[in-house]
Amino acid sequence: MSNKKIELFDTTLRDGTQGEGVNLSVEDKIRLAKRLDEFGINIIEGGWPGSNPRDKEFFKKINSVSLNQAEVCAFGSTARKLSNIENDPNLKALLETEVKTLTIFGKTWQLHSKHGLGITDIDNAKLIEQSVSFLSRNGVRVIFDAEHFFDGYLQSETFALDMLDAAVNGGADTLVLCDTNGGSLPNYVYDTTRKIVDRYKQQIGVHCHNDSGLAAANTLMAVSAGALHVQGTINGVGERCGNVSLATVLPNLVLKMNKKTKTELNLTDLSRLVKFTYDIMNMHPDTQAPFIGKSAFAHKGGIHVSAVMKDSNMYEHIDPALVGNKQRVLVSDLSGKSNINFKANELDIKYKDSKEITGQLVSKVKDLEFEGYQFEAADASLELILRELSGEYSPFFKVLDSKVHISYDESGTEKADATLKVLVGEDIEHTASDGDGPVDALNNALRKALAIFFPELKDVRLTDYKVRVLNEQEGTGAKVRVLIESAYEDDSWSTIGVSKNIIEASRQALSDSFNYRLAKLSNWSIKNKKSLQLS
Ligand SMILES: [Zn+2]
Repeated sequence: MSNKKIELFDTTLRDGTQGEGVNLSVEDKIRLAKRLDEFGINIIEGGWPGSNPRDKEFFKKINSVSLNQAEVCAFGSTARKLSNIENDPNLKALLETEVKTLTIFGKTWQLHSKHGLGITDIDNAKLIEQSVSFLSRNGVRVIFDAEHFFDGYLQSETFALDMLDAAVNGGADTLVLCDTNGGSLPNYVYDTTRKIVDRYKQQIGVHCHNDSGLAAANTLMAVSAGALHVQGTINGVGERCGNVSLATVLPNLVLKMNKKTKTELNLTDLSRLVKFTYDIMNMHPDTQAPFIGKSAFAHKGGIHVSAVMKDSNMYEHIDPALVGNKQRVLVSDLSGKSNINFKANELDIKYKDSKEITGQLVSKVKDLEFEGYQFEAADASLELILRELSGEYSPFFKVLDSKVHISYDESGTEKADATLKVLVGEDIEHTASDGDGPVDALNNALRKALAIFFPELKDVRLTDYKVRVLNEQEGTGAKVRVLIESAYEDDSWSTIGVSKNIIEASRQALSDSFNYRLAKLSNWSIKNKKSLQLS
């Protein structure tokens, strides 16, 4: 077995931005490039300077950013016309980036060169050879992306190989076999890659898309067959179903296949890096993503939980810490006492009569879940329940009464006003506020009332608000579940409310959120509560 080291190539900033809903500014791209570098990626493909001004701008700026070890690379296509290689605007834009490594793609599927470009096989080979050669002669390393290689090889081996030969003759030092349509099967990828590895002395790479859900399997098979250069995006975003996710491929390569990478990887930073990537893309992370998803090591069924408490290997394929993730235990109506005990241990809650209290808690959680509460996604609300029973917590305030009024003026513009009465200690505070819609008005009125007693709540941010109708068949009489995510600096927490009335459900979730923050600030000590209230 070869022990050669694998070169890691991330294309989140180029192929990744071709994914639906992915949009990155130049500054975003630079921040992400720095993180990818710190993580240990070898080559960061920054964009396609010949296709848009933003990518051109990126290359201008990135040259003055000092990276630890990663090299930045630019992407483009082969020249358009044979008669004009030296003045081809795309090739010129690539050289103008002044980066030392360039990737260019060429057609290696006859279907594309014949019907797409409408040129002869010989001319397509010349375009590849002369484009690669022009760049190589300018002193840069050229990586050749053999677009649609696996489909092309299936249609005509001779054609596909002729195109790779052309790239080699031009001076390409790495040939990347692309499964551009993402439809190939792992055994075929293995056999084909093996043949290519045997035929060329150049480094062979692989670039897979996930249209059949097999991008990770195909990438690992190509590596098993001898590919030493792996392309992907860090969180799997990309055209259609995405590129292969490096967050899936890398732990498999390192932890399961014992492969060495050219640069040292900070694998324990992987979960944080992927979260950062989604944040910068303003997208919700895939909670079920292998290795780094929030649910990747989350246990819900009572039997599973009692087993992992004895030995986590029983339901976990690796130690989550290796990829910077952590074990979680979810409390739900499927839970048994083990889940509640695990949660209480995790939060360091001590009950006087733990047997009796655990029993009470299990039935309380089950009753609430039956009503529509769901604590898996509302950790903070669950913690309030657990700590209330242990005597460490009682609410800091209570909303006694709330009203929301919606009116429309002549032009049909909506206006929302909320009034409420809040009890803190012995004081009652009345406030009113307007807002963009009823929930916003309620949030504003509650914050206004609480600000008088608890100025420390000022910087709590509402980062997500979700509403779900629970029993849709009831129509307008249905119950709704509101989930709110709040944050203060790096800390974030989720709370829940359930009611037939969306305003009431929102009020519960908002109250839990503010109470949770105050309780945490008081270090869950009722003794600290008075001083906090008087502050
Ligand atoms: Zn691609």
